[in-house]
Amino acid sequence: LSQQIRNMSLVRSLAFVNNQWVPASSGETFEVTNPANGQVLGQVPDMDVDDTEQAVNVAFEAFKTWEHTTAKERSVLLRKWYNLLEDNKDEIARIMTAESGKPLSEAAGEVAYANGFIDWFSEEARRIPGEIVASPTQTKEMMMIRRPIGVAALITPWNFPAAMITRKAGAALAAGCTCVIKPAEDTPLTALAMADLAAKAGIPKGVINVVTCSRKKAAEVGRVLCTSPQVAGLSFTGSTNVGKLLYEQCASTVKRVSLELGGNAPYIVFESADLEAAVKGTIACKFRNCGQTCVSANRLFIQESIFDQFVAKLEEAVKGLKVGDGAAAGVTQGPLINDAQATKVKQLVEDAVKKGAKVHLGGKPVSEMGTRFFQPTIISDVDHSMRVFNEEIFGPVAVCIPFKNEEEVLAIANSTRSGLAGYFYSNNLSQIWRVAKRLEVGMVGINEGLLSAPEAAFGGIKESGIGREGSHYGIEEYSYIKYLCFGHD
Ligand code: ADP
Repeated sequence: LSQQIRNMSLVRSLAFVNNQWVPASSGETFEVTNPANGQVLGQVPDMDVDDTEQAVNVAFEAFKTWEHTTAKERSVLLRKWYNLLEDNKDEIARIMTAESGKPLSEAAGEVAYANGFIDWFSEEARRIPGEIVASPTQTKEMMMIRRPIGVAALITPWNFPAAMITRKAGAALAAGCTCVIKPAEDTPLTALAMADLAAKAGIPKGVINVVTCSRKKAAEVGRVLCTSPQVAGLSFTGSTNVGKLLYEQCASTVKRVSLELGGNAPYIVFESADLEAAVKGTIACKFRNCGQTCVSANRLFIQESIFDQFVAKLEEAVKGLKVGDGAAAGVTQGPLINDAQATKVKQLVEDAVKKGAKVHLGGKPVSEMGTRFFQPTIISDVDHSMRVFNEEIFGPVAVCIPFKNEEEVLAIANSTRSGLAGYFYSNNLSQIWRVAKRLEVGMVGINEGLLSAPEAAFGGIKESGIGREGSHYGIEEYSYIKYLCFGHD
């Protein structure tokens, strides 16, 4: 283990199956690195098909007793887990910063948000109601109850190493499911630390399992999770391409599928908007986590009459951002997660510049800091031919596009196959209602750039996904409706 994390009590270098810390059966491991400096933090097991089948089997066996626990028992265990997560929040945040690169303050924010899902679902566990309907005949009574689906496979990304796990696992456990978690290869240490606390909280063996594997093994491990008849449902957060592949693989066993895929969020500033608020929202929505969130503003549409003014204010605000190692004080912009992502962001900007885009600020890697840091960037004069216009950027690049009127901007905003989040700033009440209804997305931020919360339903439409996470709807992904018909004299 590297110096940076050696003293931490929650750092684990084995996978977690049946409440035991286990190596890969092959003995193979892969490295976890710090994206800020490339240093190797540690090694974790590179698990394969056999290991995954073993974990699925364990979860399948554990389900047989876990599904019969009472809602209150599950609630109490989730509460204990939450309490331990809170007691250890500083250490989890430091582990997260080490492996994901995000600034420590953001990591702390994510841990609070992530723990909030366990808090929320510890309460929701006790509120999974059924329904009794008025029967059409005198000799039958009819009711619908909710039952847990079984083993849930949870495949998660690196951009929110804790929260993407808790919002799935919290709901799954509350509903009465057991789970096999496959964390992202870039950020397995956060997942393992949380699993350690789940065991300490008394969550029974086999209820939560964490299978770690490298990018090379992800496809074979994923295939087991998607095709095993012992797995009842898959919940995936990640790229649209991988999501589509998993959706297809899940067809053979007709699994319950919940997908949270890429976005291409429009962020619209109308001329009636409070510009200060709109700029503040842009900083949160575009530059948080270095732009690496699926709800990040991907395209900023600014009404013509206020375009120059907005861009000038945004420039001022962006100049206040500080790039560096996320563990250092005052840093707001860490590295991009890995070299592949850093190269992609660089190429997107180069492509735009080559085709005539104007760079207002930044536009280049911060080469003296290594290969993964990118300057906070603002560009304009972009058009449909450029990759930044069409692709999810996942980097600190604000693309500013002027528009004439509401009709025009809605048409462009909706001209994408993605439909996760959308944002707009306006102080015209009628316009607020019109635009809120017409944006083709699952979530709308109105005069607000940050919208996620355990209490609210997170999810997309179109190719951005299926299902909802958080809120009371989150439980629905992990439960099915069972209809009971009672005959009597
Ligand atoms: P990102 O671009 O954010 O890395 P990915 O969709 O590639 O998004 O990764 C999200 C998660 O999906 C990670 O845990 C990754 O290991 C996993 N993954 C990637 N490819 C596959 C695959 N073929 N089957 C199953 N899981 C996969």
